Amino acid sequence: MGIIEQIQAAKLTGKGGADFPVHIKWQGVMNAHSKYPDKPVYVICNATEGEPGIEKDKFILQNYPEKMLAGMKIAMETLGAVMGYIYLNPVYYKKFGAKLKKLIGKTPIEFFVEHGGYICGEETTLLETIESKRSEPRLKPPFPTERGLFSCPTLVNNVETFYHIAAIAGDNYRQTRFYFVGGDVKNSGVYELPVNLSIGKILEETKNLPSFEFFIQAGGGAAGEILTSNELNAPLKGAGSIIVYNLKNTKPLPLLKKWVEFFYKSNCGKCAPCREGFFRLRQLLNSRPLNIALLRALVQTMKDASFCPLGRSIFSLVVGLLEKIGLNNKR
Ligand code: SF4
Repeated sequence: MGIIEQIQAAKLTGKGGADFPVHIKWQGVMNAHSKYPDKPVYVICNATEGEPGIEKDKFILQNYPEKMLAGMKIAMETLGAVMGYIYLNPVYYKKFGAKLKKLIGKTPIEFFVEHGGYICGEETTLLETIESKRSEPRLKPPFPTERGLFSCPTLVNNVETFYHIAAIAGDNYRQTRFYFVGGDVKNSGVYELPVNLSIGKILEETKNLPSFEFFIQAGGGAAGEILTSNELNAPLKGAGSIIVYNLKNTKPLPLLKKWVEFFYKSNCGKCAPCREGFFRLRQLLNSRPLNIALLRALVQTMKDASFCPLGRSIFSLVVGLLEKIGLNNKR
C-alpha cells in the first residue's frame, strides 16, 4: 500500500483546525502534478499557531521536531516536491529554529517567518506572504493543491498532521491526536489521547473535569465554540483545544470584549463586513444600554458577508455566549 492509501486507511484529518481528510489533499497535489508536469511542487508545514489557547504544535516542535520533519520529508518525496517551507511565527522561530535547522540537514527546506499574526495561519494568506504580497486570503477555488505557491501545486499541512504522517509511515499510528486543556483547570497542558474521545472524557482522562459550575470554549481560545457542562458528549474537533471557565468567576462581557479585540487587531482589512464589523462591535460592546438586537444583527451580517472564516467566526461565539451563558452572568 502506498503512503496516500495508508493515510486514507488511517482516516487522518488535518489538525490545523479544518479536519479535512489528508489523503484528498495529497491526491489533489498528485493529480495537479500529473496535469502540469512542468510546474514545481511545494510542501509547506504550517507552524503559525496564532490563536490564543492552542499550544499543541508548540509542544510537538519542542518535543518531537524530528517526527514532524520526517512527515514533511515523506510528503516531499511522495509528491516530488522541489522545495519545502516551514512557516513559523516569530516566537516559534526564535525558540525552535536552530534545532530544526540542524535536523533539516541537506533537505531543501527553508524557513519563512511570518509577521502578520493570526490571519497568516490561513493557508492562502500564508501563500500570499511567501510571495511577498499583503497578508490577505485568496478566493478559493482554485485550491492550493492545484494553484498554490507561485501558482504551482502545493501541499499545506500543519505540524501535528506531519507528526502523524511519520507515525503512519512507520506503522506506529494509534489513532491518537494532541489536545490542549487550559483555563480554570488544575492540570493545564498538552495530552496525546484517542482521536474520537468526547470532550467530557478528555477532561476526565486529564483529571481536569471541574467540580464547580463551568462552561468551555472548544476548538480554540478565540474562535472556539461555547459549550455548557451538559454538552460534553461530542468529540472535540478543530484545533483540539478546550478552555474551561469557572461560571462563578467569569464575566462574559469582558471575555467577549477580549475576543473582539483580538479579532479587531488580527483581521486583515480586506473586506468591509469584517473590518468595519469588528470596529462597530467594539463600539457597541462599550455602549449602554447594550443593544442586543443590534449585536445579533451585526454578527449575523458578519457571518453572512465576511470573505473568510475569521470574520464569520464571531457569530457563533456571540450567539453561544448570549444563548447559553448570558452577557450579564450574576452567579
Ligand atoms: S473576513 Fe476579515 S480576515 Fe478575512 S478577508 Fe475579510 S477582513 Fe480579512
